[in-house]
Amino acid sequence: MVKLASYACNRWIEAATDAQPIASAIDGATVALASSSDVDFAAVANHARHRGLPALRRLTFQGRAGLLKKLAQYLSEHKDALYDLSFHTGATRRDSAIDIDGGIGTLFAYAGMGRRELPDSNVLLDGPQMSLSRQGSFVGRHIETPMDGIAIHVNAYNFPCWGMLEKLAPALLAGVPCIVKPATQTAYVTEAMVRLIVASGILPEGSIQLICGRLGDLLDHVTGQDLVSFTGSIETSLLLRNHPALARNATRFVAERDSLNAAILAPDVEPGSPEFDIFVREVTREMTVKAGQKCTAIRRILVPAATIDAVTTAIAAKLSRVVVGDPRAEGVTMGPLVSLDQREDVGRRVEALRAEADLVIGEIDNPVVTGADASKGGYLPPILLRARNPKQASAVHAVEAFGPVSTLLAYDDVAEAVALARRGEGSLVATAVTRDADIAAEIAFGIASYHGRLHLIDRDSAAESTGHGSPLPGLVHGGPGRAGGGEELGGMRGVHHYLQRTAIQASPALLTRLGGHWNKGAPEIAENEHPFRRGFEALALGETIRTRPRTVTLDDIEHFAHFTGDTFYAHMDEAAARANPFFPGRVAHGYLILSFAAGLFVEPAPGPVLANYGLDSLRFLKPVSPGDAIAVRLTVKQKAPRNADYGEVRWDVEVTNQNDETVATYELLTLNALTERAA
Ligand code: NDP
Repeated sequence: MVKLASYACNRWIEAATDAQPIASAIDGATVALASSSDVDFAAVANHARHRGLPALRRLTFQGRAGLLKKLAQYLSEHKDALYDLSFHTGATRRDSAIDIDGGIGTLFAYAGMGRRELPDSNVLLDGPQMSLSRQGSFVGRHIETPMDGIAIHVNAYNFPCWGMLEKLAPALLAGVPCIVKPATQTAYVTEAMVRLIVASGILPEGSIQLICGRLGDLLDHVTGQDLVSFTGSIETSLLLRNHPALARNATRFVAERDSLNAAILAPDVEPGSPEFDIFVREVTREMTVKAGQKCTAIRRILVPAATIDAVTTAIAAKLSRVVVGDPRAEGVTMGPLVSLDQREDVGRRVEALRAEADLVIGEIDNPVVTGADASKGGYLPPILLRARNPKQASAVHAVEAFGPVSTLLAYDDVAEAVALARRGEGSLVATAVTRDADIAAEIAFGIASYHGRLHLIDRDSAAESTGHGSPLPGLVHGGPGRAGGGEELGGMRGVHHYLQRTAIQASPALLTRLGGHWNKGAPEIAENEHPFRRGFEALALGETIRTRPRTVTLDDIEHFAHFTGDTFYAHMDEAAARANPFFPGRVAHGYLILSFAAGLFVEPAPGPVLANYGLDSLRFLKPVSPGDAIAVRLTVKQKAPRNADYGEVRWDVEVTNQNDETVATYELLTLNALTERAA
């Protein structure tokens, strides 16, 4: 018998004698024992605060992204043992891949986003600098810095790996240590993964701790710098959200909970069309993956009254081919629910739904089961219901039967479909299948504010669609109202939960130092050597060269026009140019100004500048006429290391004319070798 251990204060604390047995979903046999009664929760919170937090804060966003990548690689190499354990949760191999590989993929994704989007510091800039004074000596800007606290993650039973990693990745990237409390029912899979994480030695001590069993008095120890993130039922979320310590300290609380997700077949879709088949496939897949124990599963199937009979027949036919049984047995396509208790709970909720809906398919009492004793595990067949009066019904819009259960609802027109979808009072995701862009827009506008994600598909996108039920690291996962009001993932949005936004008012010089970002008005540094001769590390923010002027002639403009083929009238036809309200007559091409600017500031010999890879924020602010003399200021604006060989330099470029008027501004991006390489 496996006694699960909590990982607290850098050691494994085995379940105490009062441990609670955890039954296998397959046959009810005890697979593990869990208890956290020997855990000192105050010490756990302290350990995270005083060991994990400083260790993570010593690293930068970039450094922590590197750790996530290493961890994801390590878990990928060691994940196989998790699959064997995962069968006992009732998961088929395909279900486990979503949980285990999906979780590791989320780590990889956050590692990549961190490398690409976050600085090599602990200060993230939010929005542009604002001028707050006439002379420009006093400016404002928002910054974001990591919360000086800990994260407590209370997770649901349905995704013991993904559920942990999708919360862990943004928190660790932000620099916040985590205490993970998995749902007891499937904690043995989470524990096995945390053992791998600890064995890898990749994360600093105290950055992850695990509680197998109850949460004890951990929440009594939260502060206003902490965050509690929860996935599970509405009842538990209310209990946690209203905990006195959370309320008193205004502790951040993120919740993801019940969701009556809808799939809408639009009225333009005819039976027999590709969209019809796509809809039927999507609904049946979402009902049966993880035996419907997915927060994103489709619970309400909204179909035009004119097609509901055809849809009912097609979905029922597909569901009748689902093979329920021991997920290890040959041919089984849907495993049991996580426990007999869950099966009973779903049974009760189906009864509530049946007060308003007729059963189309699904023999609850005597399911046909392959390779297992139906009475010993949480076996249920897919259950399809059809609401008798969708508009009058209430349970079908409010009762989440967390299993392979879904209800068909007929609607008369798009406005009614929108109204019915909204009756879910806030959901994680809805799918609409339509080929009509106007209908798609009407549905999307009608229900977007009630959803965290909308999945709009037709024959052109279905084959490559990631599916209704797949939260993606780059897209928001969460929903308003009943769904909890929280937002997870969504790329950097998930990281922002663990950062505090602060408005800074200061001089441009102080802001340059604080934000790692030079702005016009901050001091310029003049070096003897041209910056293109200096390696990445040697360059300082604010390092500037100012070039000599160059006069732009009419010959230059004509030569450029014929050479490039850009003989646009503003450059070639004096009368036409004068008739244009923006130009005093013929003017230089914008691209000519850029080319001359480069000609003025480059240092041509081979050196540390490896490549020019683009421009950002280009603006032409004033026309350049023949006879004007342009000069350039080139300043190091920002530096971001990329790897051991080179880093990215963002240059602030300003082109001025003989009257010191700005004619063009842009940011130039170059890749620069490190100093050692360059020498
Ligand atoms: P719960 O809300 O009971 O459990 C979720 C998590 O909260 C688990 O880790 C659980 O731990 C923990 N928990 C429970 N009670 C407390 C408490 N008093 N203090 C601190 N932590 C607590 O949800 P279930 O997993 O039992 O699922 C119940 C229903 O919730 C499902 O049938 C479904 O309707 C909904 N649900 C929705 C999900 C979604 O993502 N939308 C996901 C999962 C469930 P422990 O396991 O130790 O009790």
